[in-house]
Order: sequence, then structure tokens, then C-alpha cells
Amino acid sequence: MNCRLPLPLLVQKAGKPSIQSLLLEEIAAYLAARNQRPYRAKQIADWIYQKRVNSFDEMTDLPHDLRHRLAEDFAVGGVETVRILGSDDTTRKFLFRLRDGNLIESVLIPASPALYGERSDRRTICVSTQVGCAYGCKFCASGLDGFSRNLDASEIVQQLLAVEKASGEKIDNVVFMGMGEPLANFSNVVRAIRIINAPWGLEIGARHITVSTSGLVPQIRKLADESLQSRLAISLHGATDLVRNKIMPVNRKYDLTSLLSACEYYASRKKQRIYFEYILIAGVNDAEEQAHLLASHARRLGAKVNLIPYNTVEGLEWSRPSRTRQERFLSILREHGTVATLRHEKGHDIDAACGQLRLQTKRSERGAVAPVATTLAH
Ligand code: SAH
Ligand code: SF4
Repeated sequence: MNCRLPLPLLVQKAGKPSIQSLLLEEIAAYLAARNQRPYRAKQIADWIYQKRVNSFDEMTDLPHDLRHRLAEDFAVGGVETVRILGSDDTTRKFLFRLRDGNLIESVLIPASPALYGERSDRRTICVSTQVGCAYGCKFCASGLDGFSRNLDASEIVQQLLAVEKASGEKIDNVVFMGMGEPLANFSNVVRAIRIINAPWGLEIGARHITVSTSGLVPQIRKLADESLQSRLAISLHGATDLVRNKIMPVNRKYDLTSLLSACEYYASRKKQRIYFEYILIAGVNDAEEQAHLLASHARRLGAKVNLIPYNTVEGLEWSRPSRTRQERFLSILREHGTVATLRHEKGHDIDAACGQLRLQTKRSERGAVAPVATTLAH
């Protein structure tokens, strides 16, 4: 063993895969091909996910030459925290810069009401899965700048690591509801879920991981066939094709009938209740008739409905209905026996709707608007 190797181990070549993209068995296979002992794989995973080191050099129970080799082949990390908005007891937003300069964001929602998990005291992180989004829903900030690229699994996993590091809090609920369409980045998202869920990884129970989709029917069926018990949320936002077609171009490809039957398939394969997300937008999808129809879709699937008052996006003219109208919509659902909640958006004041912080930052970097506050407000 050569213990006197120079240690330029922190120098990470751009373009190297990050070690956080690998499953334990892949680390083991990499090591086996280099005649290393199998137990080293678990040691490496412990350094990354338990001890949370930032370089191979810190993995002190690995031989120097192995550390050096790993550093040649992989990066550790690659997500840099550039901004945090919000305070300890409210929603906090994290803006990250990736190795190629792209910006993504995550939202941490502490002690929120039980939206996805069963308990009500969970710290939920909302993660991004793509830079931008190609699906162009008319109300959404994420699609405004178009689509740049998919995140790899490590860039998804690292959002959790970085938020836990910056906040000092343990995350116990994950929702794939940040920027991007998770099911359009299927293999990286499934890989990230496996790492987040694994006992050697972040050890978050699959039932506390929720993937949200605008309605990619073939991928919903594919996800149903994966050996994962993560949960599924559908961004419905309209109970008829007429309404969905107006605001969600994806519905022209996969209409409501095919979407609901894919949901039925998912619910029966997983023996799970799915969630319908329904943003309430004034004059667009908040008519009473929509509530009655939504209740009937939910009954058919045994789905739970989360109503979300629309969060205003700079540059878009949409707005949320009055509180009375929101409550009326909710009570119609409940009259039908639908399990439904009306979310009171905690992060409204800090532009919590996904994609907005990034958009503001990009605009301010281009000099279009004044920069937003960058400090943690207490
Ligand atoms: N692409 C996926 C996941 C990311 S969007 C999807 O569409 O499901 C996460 C959720 O935020 C979706 O339900 C989306 O419709 C919602 N959303 C987008 N813009 C919003 C806004 N301005 N106010 C409230 N919710 C919004
Ligand atoms: Fe993309 Fe989801 Fe936004 Fe639609 S709502 S543009 S699918 S991120």
C-alpha cells in the first residue's frame, strides 16, 4: 500500500460522475473490479450518508490508494447552496448551483400538516428533478424558461443532503414537486428514490416519498410496475378535458380517461391511495361543477384531494379565488365523502411555488429585476 501518495483528492474534474449517483451494489461492483474487499462498499456509503463527508480524503478507514482512485473516478457532491430564504419555523427555500452553473431549488416545509405522510409533525422537502420543465403548464413558473436538462440521481439526492446540512434538521418526508416533471426523468428519479429509501442511504420510508406528475400516462404505468412503495400524486387541476386542455398541454396527449385508468392501475398494483393535487385558480377551474366531478373521480379511485390556492407568479395574470370560494369548493368535496384538505400555503410570502426563486434569480442576474433578499429572516 502506498501511503505517500500526493493527495489532490479534493480536485474534482468536471464531468466525473458523482459517487452519490451510485447504488450500493454498483459501488461494490466497482470495487470488485479493482480487487477491493466487498465490505468497503458499505464503508463508503457510511461516509457519504451517515458521516456526510465532502471528499474521499476524509474516508480515513479506506487505504490511501483506494481514496486516490475513487477521487480520480468520482466527484463527491456538486450542489452548492447559493441562497436560503425563509425562517426556521416557516417554509424555507434553498437555491443551489450545479457544477455546470445551472440553478435549481428545493423547499423545506417544517412541521406541516399531514399532506402526504400519515403523521403531522414531518419535515418535508420538495425536490427538483429537472432544470426547467418542458411541459409548459400555463400557470407554472418552472415551465416559463423552457427545459434545459434532466438532473442526475446525485443532484436529486444532494438536495436532501444540502438542506439537512444547512438547516441542521433531519428530513423525514420527500415530495418530488419542485421544478421539472419527475416522470420525464424516469430512470434518474427511480434511482434517486432507491438511494433515499435504502437502509445504507438516507433511510426514508418509501411511503414518505411522493412523486408528483402532471399526467404522463405510460410512465405512471411503468412506475406502478417498479418494485417501489413510494406514493403518487397527480397534478389534476381540472376535472374535465376542457379545463385541463386549457391549462395543461400534456392533457392533449394523455386525456383524462387514459390518465384516470393509469391511476387506477397504479392504485391497484401498489394497494395504495393516490393523491390528486388541485390548484384553485380563480375563474379557471374553481366552478362548483368541477368540484362535483372531481369528487366522483376521487371516489372511483379512492383518492385523496389536496386543494392548493394558486400562488401568484410574476409575469402571469392568474390568481387564487377568494377564501369563501376556496372553502365552498372544499365543502362540496366533503359533502360527497371525499377526503380533502385545503392547503394554506405557508411559503406564499417567499414565493414558495416551485420554480419561482430560480426564475427571480436568473432574471436578477440578467439585470431584469432587483435581487431578492438572501438572508435567513427570523
Ligand atoms: N411536474 C410535476 C411536479 C412539479 S410541479 C407536476 O406537475 O406534478 C409541483 C406542483 O406544484 C404541481 O401540482 C403544480 O401544478 C404545482 N404548481 C405549479 N405552479 C404553481 C403555483 N403557481 N401555485 C401553486 N401550485 C403550483
Ligand atoms: Fe412542469 Fe409540473 Fe410546472 Fe407543469 S406544473 S410546467 S409539469 S413543473
